[in-house]
Amino acid sequence: MASGKLRVAVIGAGAAGLCCAHHLLATPSVYEAPVVFETTGQVGGTWVYTEGSEISSHVHSSMYRHLRTNLPKEIMEFPDFSFDPSVPSFPHHSKVLQYLEDYTDKFGIRPHIRFHCTVESLSPVLGDGDTVQVPWDVTFRTQGDAHPVTQRFEAVMVCAGHYSKPYIPDIAGIETFQGHILHSHVYRHPEVFSSRSVVLLGSGPSGVDIAMELAPYAEKVTLSHRGPPLQWALPKNMSLAPALASVAPHTLTFEDGTELKADTLIFCTGYKYSYPFLVPCEGKRCSEKTASNGHPESSKETLGANEHPQESRLSKEQSVNLLEEEEFLGPDMGQGHIPPLYRHLIHARYPTLCFIGACKIVVPFPLFNCQVLFFLAVLEGKCQLPPPNKMLSESREELKKHLRDGLPLKYLHRLEREQWRYNHCLAETAGFEPLPPVLQSIYETCRSFRKADPTSYRGLNFQVLSKDQFRIISS
Ligand code: FAD
Repeated sequence: MASGKLRVAVIGAGAAGLCCAHHLLATPSVYEAPVVFETTGQVGGTWVYTEGSEISSHVHSSMYRHLRTNLPKEIMEFPDFSFDPSVPSFPHHSKVLQYLEDYTDKFGIRPHIRFHCTVESLSPVLGDGDTVQVPWDVTFRTQGDAHPVTQRFEAVMVCAGHYSKPYIPDIAGIETFQGHILHSHVYRHPEVFSSRSVVLLGSGPSGVDIAMELAPYAEKVTLSHRGPPLQWALPKNMSLAPALASVAPHTLTFEDGTELKADTLIFCTGYKYSYPFLVPCEGKRCSEKTASNGHPESSKETLGANEHPQESRLSKEQSVNLLEEEEFLGPDMGQGHIPPLYRHLIHARYPTLCFIGACKIVVPFPLFNCQVLFFLAVLEGKCQLPPPNKMLSESREELKKHLRDGLPLKYLHRLEREQWRYNHCLAETAGFEPLPPVLQSIYETCRSFRKADPTSYRGLNFQVLSKDQFRIISS
């Protein structure tokens, strides 16, 4: 920390990473300009639409061609940056990308993003055993470079998203199916399903929206789901089915014993957490030579002051695992490895590492804003955390209870109705302005309209009147 200021790395330039960069740049007396690492050549993450032959499970975004938001822009937006007023309440995905592009430019974030640059691993630089202030060696590779480079930071904010690694449940006989199988992650548009008999598994927002998009094209659409009965009127060629029990070459059998011939199966079964850069460091060696200023020495003149090539700087002293251990995850590990998190946010063992946006079923952008402000308050010493052993035991108790209750690991950070109390608690503890109550009111209203009829709620337009009042101006 030659300048006395904190250097913070941000992994990902989606909405969460942009929010981190904005708030770090807003406090230049405390932070050096952040370094934002982004694998792709664009900001926006999930909101960057990819079409045609480029689609594969390696593509980051799950956007499909006709997607409109499932939350109104009046609650989606960051508290300090509004959507263009001419945009309707439920805009097409391209408008959200434009909003994030505008946010990037308004707050001068773009020059601080290293595009085409992937973080490959993170290693805490352990000193005398105290992990509270631990700095990080971030190892990244720029596209086209043969060797990765390592750079040291006082803190790391992980904003890598969690909607790009499809979760596919185990279903008996699935490997024998002779039809077409895909996950909603790679679904783009309905025309290619013309005259097909399609079964969608899962009635979350993607399952319902995709089923409704397919109905005018497909011969038959079946929505298989576990939840309570759906209340809205279905198109003529669409029906509901219970959860899928087993699969034969051309036939699907559901849990109530009914059978159906189908030629396409779309998994709308969500995503699993994936943090490939949190590789266990056991036997993996981290920086050995450290210059007197505490930074690893660089052997390449082209590298920055605290950068060094990854190879040749290895020792075995740091043997750490940043993910939850198997004894805690149990048989649920197929649903992704997760780090132990305090308040769904801060690494319980290494609190200079945080994960913005790990939560699910939330209003993402305002929640990101609260999480970022909370973490920065911690870094700035305005807000004290419990000691790591206490945070670790708390997060493990939550995990054990969650698994004991029979809930899938991928729902560990599902907040839903709890999100408002969670956001409020972050604001109160860290001393920043809480979100206005009108967000919750609009959220609940929108939710009940969507539940009643997921085909028409996007016709609504909301207008915020005050911190706790809104009106619906058209439907
Ligand atoms: P992402 O947007 O996923 O961004 C992560 C970024 O990190 C990416 O750019 C990626 O390339 C980069 N990255 C990942 N790993 C690395 C690495 N190792 N090194 C460098 N860069 C890396 N939210 C709403 O508010 N309203 C909606 O209507 C809505 N609809 C949705 C519909 C779909 C189909 C999906 C999938 C999500 C939807 N969401 C919606 C949620 C949406 O994911 C969030 O709004 C938000 O965009 C998530 O932002 P993020 O920054 O956390 O992650």
